[in-house]
Amino acid sequence: MSEDCIFCAIVSGDQPGHVVYEDDSTVAFLDANPLAPGHTLVVPRDHHERVQDMPDDVARDVFRTIHRLVPRIEDAVDADATNVGFNNGETAGQVVPHVHGHVVPRFEGDGGRPIHAVAASQEDLDDDELAAIAEDVRSAGE
Ligand code: 5GP
Ligand code: ZN
Repeated sequence: MSEDCIFCAIVSGDQPGHVVYEDDSTVAFLDANPLAPGHTLVVPRDHHERVQDMPDDVARDVFRTIHRLVPRIEDAVDADATNVGFNNGETAGQVVPHVHGHVVPRFEGDGGRPIHAVAASQEDLDDDELAAIAEDVRSAGE
């Protein structure tokens, strides 16, 4: 638990939250400023800032919870689809530094946009540039 972390406080019950699911390692609750009815945040109980800070088992548990909740949320609010995503780091728009997956219900004709809308424009990279980037990513894992 991290002092001054609003999500740690919700997980511990010190702060109120509309909790929709909890298990040994994860908790899910409604976003206080929802982008749509049913907008839900899925968090690990333990305080980790970014996706890459979670141990493997915690990362698996977070995705397992998202996987379980998506159909329940879609059913509950009668959504046609959902966007699922993480703002991972301040530059990417992460405001609360306790890793959290957003599940945002989507409705036919809601006027929203796909997750591609996070970028201001599309990069124009040729095949050689893509190959070089792919090689850099592969070798970063060695
Ligand atoms: P981020 O930009 O960090 O990915 O998203 C943080 C999210 O947390 C926002 O969508 C915001 O509405 C939500 N949020 C911020 N403070 C609280 C809170 O105290 N309770 C709940 N339930 N959600 C919060
Ligand atoms: Zn926290």
